[in-house]
Amino acid sequence: MKITSIRQGVVPISSSIANAYIDFSKMTASVVAVTVESGDGRSATGYGFNSNGRYAQPGLLAERFIPRLEAVGELPAHADGGFDPIPAWTAMMKNEKPGGHGDRSVAVGVLDMALWDAAAKLAQVPLWKLLADRYNQGRADEQAWIYAAGGYYQPGKDVDALVEEMKRYLGLGYSVVKMKIGGSPGMGLREALLLDLQRIEAVLKLLDGQGHRLCVDVNGRFGLHAALSYGAAIQGFGLRWYEEPLDPLDYSTHATLAEHYAPPLATGENLFSMLDARNLIRHGGLRPDRDVLQFDPALSYGLVEYLRTLEMLREHGWSPRRCVPHGGHQFALNIAVGLGLGGNESYPEVFAPFGGFADSTPVENSRIRMPDIPGIGFEAKSDLHAVLRDL
Ligand SMILES: [Mg+2]
Repeated sequence: MKITSIRQGVVPISSSIANAYIDFSKMTASVVAVTVESGDGRSATGYGFNSNGRYAQPGLLAERFIPRLEAVGELPAHADGGFDPIPAWTAMMKNEKPGGHGDRSVAVGVLDMALWDAAAKLAQVPLWKLLADRYNQGRADEQAWIYAAGGYYQPGKDVDALVEEMKRYLGLGYSVVKMKIGGSPGMGLREALLLDLQRIEAVLKLLDGQGHRLCVDVNGRFGLHAALSYGAAIQGFGLRWYEEPLDPLDYSTHATLAEHYAPPLATGENLFSMLDARNLIRHGGLRPDRDVLQFDPALSYGLVEYLRTLEMLREHGWSPRRCVPHGGHQFALNIAVGLGLGGNESYPEVFAPFGGFADSTPVENSRIRMPDIPGIGFEAKSDLHAVLRDL
């Protein structure tokens, strides 16, 4: 088993949307193609990219992680005889000190995704099946629960336009949707809260008042006072979850919020390692019977690290079903189905071509089936495959 070629590129995924913390006018993504040759001379090319919210990492890839992978030579096979991304991952991380994950975890995550795509292609099975066989006693879910993430702030977008957007998601087969809150620029807390309550109530009306069909996302904007004020105001709606109300690394403040806000909280998309995730579990006051963990394998050193995170969660009494990764990509969808997570995010209208799933698998009642093709399934998503093939 050896890696014979690695190519990388940068593609724009810019758009006029904004959440409460950043706008996406300059957003980019790294894409890579990694070719792996098996012992019997067959080869497969796997693709990887980073999900939205973090920028492309061409420098880190070119200077450290690609040269290390290129220098690695012969790699040991997995016990099942197939390609094993774990030794390649270890080679990539040689001479990296612990802590301070930042953008490094994004660069490694991009390559890790490509290594898993190649591993499943060499085994001639979908990645969800490879993962179920290697790590889940062969048990894969029939389908994945997904929800439509949108409701971004955009210049000139009023409450009616927000409701129209959510209506389109329902028309696409989603029954659960998510909207941004806490992002009205230049407003005081009271004024912003009143406007957001109008926005939330308008969407709830579309959802027949069923709060469990709506999630709201603050993108880490609030301090404790604003998080508690919003929490008190939305507590009665029965929302599916209240996402990233606080800075992702401020664990003790999460614990305080969780003492005062009983309904489900969700966070974790901006924690990039098993150790950061463990600190959240140890110190964040989150509740394994209701809260939702959104660690995104594509941004956090890939699936090799995500397997460690799942193990850590089990040791702390958390089910993998509490995990619903951020990012809306096919990689996390395969992981959700193969390893028994709670579901996956989806972006029906933004972050093209990386958002969305295989062309042939429609969404029904917020559930989706997986295509039965080797690898992650990029070849079954034509707009994304066109970008990856260019490499
Ligand atoms: Mg979010």
